Amino acid sequence: SAFSVSDGNRIATSKLGRGTVTTTPSRLYAKARGEGYGAPLDNISEAVGNTPLVKISNRICPEGRTIYAKCEYFNPLSSVKDRLALAIIEAAEKNGSLKPGQTVVEATSGNTGIAIAMMCAQRGYPCVITMAEPFSVERRKLMRMLGAKVIVTPKAGKGTGMVAKAAELAEKHGWFLCHQFETDANWKFHYDTTGPEICNDMKGLKLDYWVTGYGTGGTFHGAGKYIKENSPGTKIILAEPGAANLIGSGIQTERNADGSPASSHPAFAAHPIQGWTPDFIPLVLEKGLGLQDEMVEIPDGAGVAMSQSLARNEGILTGISGGATMWAAVETAKKAPEGSVLVAMLPDTGERYLSTPLFASIAADMNEEELEIARSTPSFIL
Ligand code: PMP
Repeated sequence: SAFSVSDGNRIATSKLGRGTVTTTPSRLYAKARGEGYGAPLDNISEAVGNTPLVKISNRICPEGRTIYAKCEYFNPLSSVKDRLALAIIEAAEKNGSLKPGQTVVEATSGNTGIAIAMMCAQRGYPCVITMAEPFSVERRKLMRMLGAKVIVTPKAGKGTGMVAKAAELAEKHGWFLCHQFETDANWKFHYDTTGPEICNDMKGLKLDYWVTGYGTGGTFHGAGKYIKENSPGTKIILAEPGAANLIGSGIQTERNADGSPASSHPAFAAHPIQGWTPDFIPLVLEKGLGLQDEMVEIPDGAGVAMSQSLARNEGILTGISGGATMWAAVETAKKAPEGSVLVAMLPDTGERYLSTPLFASIAADMNEEELEIARSTPSFIL
């Protein structure tokens, strides 16, 4: 038969699709034998972190190079921001700045809000999220599903508008403001978890390049600092939307003394990579600047295209920022010496983008395929 099962170590040889594929899920069996968490978890926040590094095949990775994806969508609510929410809430509980029953408020492009809503639901804090209008509607629905109240701020105000609204509400009502863009708890959690996870999983293997983008800069600063200290030979590649495509709003944007984008800079506009590169330089990012060895600019459309390619070629479903990061990794790999090894961050799941350009073309060709199946299958129910 096309599919044969032998033993627990080398179980499946499939001749479906792209020729013979042999899988060795021995680690799955090890987990099932009791090496997983070792005990039931007390609550959902204990499931944060410990995300897998997954090898990318030569359908995407250039020949002679190796790229591993750090799949942050394995977090309980499917994004890297679950780490941040746990970090902020735990730090505030410890230092007493968050009181039992106090309302938690934060400005977010979505993933942070979903993660904070999860932590608040689990720990019994009311939760209010401010979010700029262009971010995808499924994010708002998820937050509301988790019991949070969501206040949508106007598109024109961009990231700065939603941040100002959260601060205003906190001040007015005495709510706890998370300050994800400023708090040291953000990058420190990545220093304590994301960085060590990468270095531990890469133990015995060399790591030539670590590739990431930035929103708050927490991942870049925290994991980057740990990687530099513990794997000094690793080069850090920091990606942002490309100014050449009139979408730049990042580190390389020309700015006035007060940090606002210079009017001479033609590129200051909303870019298409949700969760990346706000229209200001966050303190968490600023404190980590200098850790990067190189900046890579992502062309318009490259994030969406690579995310679709990861889904179809690898079965890896990640968002637009994950696609953009993998694009930067592939471009870096192409220029890197033969034998180079890279790790690229995939911050969230593609399912968070059902209403966005990531899925726009998918809907179109799905319809055609469905029609084709319908034509050749008399009993097919449309
Ligand atoms: N990608 C997505 C989709 C995000 O939501 C975020 C966080 N805003 C990031 C990347 C960047 O993560 P960080 O805030 O740690 O820089």
